Amino acid sequence: MDLTPRQEQILSIVKADGPITGENIADRLSLTRATLRPDLAILTMAGFLDARPRVGYFFTGKTGTELVSDKIKKLKVREYYSVPVVVNDQVSVYDAICSMFLEDVGTLFVVDKQSLLIGVLSRKDLLRASMGQQELHEIPVHIIMTRLPKIKYCEKDDLLIDASLKLIENQIDALPVIAKRESGLEVVGRLTKTNVTKAFVELVKSEEV
Ligand code: ADP
Repeated sequence: MDLTPRQEQILSIVKADGPITGENIADRLSLTRATLRPDLAILTMAGFLDARPRVGYFFTGKTGTELVSDKIKKLKVREYYSVPVVVNDQVSVYDAICSMFLEDVGTLFVVDKQSLLIGVLSRKDLLRASMGQQELHEIPVHIIMTRLPKIKYCEKDDLLIDASLKLIENQIDALPVIAKRESGLEVVGRLTKTNVTKAFVELVKSEEV
């Protein structure tokens, strides 16, 4: 975030003499409190300054990088996940390939009759199954899928950074977003590397006011 010369001046006053009231900062710059209000709001919202009633503004001591990292650590899966695409465990590999194309996704989640998670199918799982001389209409996906308990998943309230670490550490493209039920794991969403990339871009865009 680029600060204006006046915002830089405010920062150095608060750094040197904070906590200091808005009134006092205004006096030091020979400006009115009203003129300074937008600058103080920006500096506070961006996290450079903090304000306490009757005490005034003080410097948070955080660098730009620390502020960005603070923001990233607050992002939740619930703000970024996509709609899941699921198939039943009895469908054929051929039909799963069709679903992957039609729904334009790279990962399918396999569910049982109660819509509970039992497997994951990636592009390469389906490619691998197609390489032999096998009858793709005859092989059900449960033969080739990655199954529980091997499946890595996340929940809506998990931090996006924790879910992203799971994607990286396990070298996978997507996590099912699940809700825990007594009978198992209900699939409620899909968190992919694309969702994380979008979060990254949005974070930068939100700074460009
Ligand atoms: P691709 O294989 O198309 O590159 P992935 O890297 O996502 O896609 O998948 C690699 C392997 O990991 C596949 O065998 C897939 O079934 C499995 N896999 C994918 N997602 C998960 C997950 N969330 N939990 C466990 N295994 C997964």
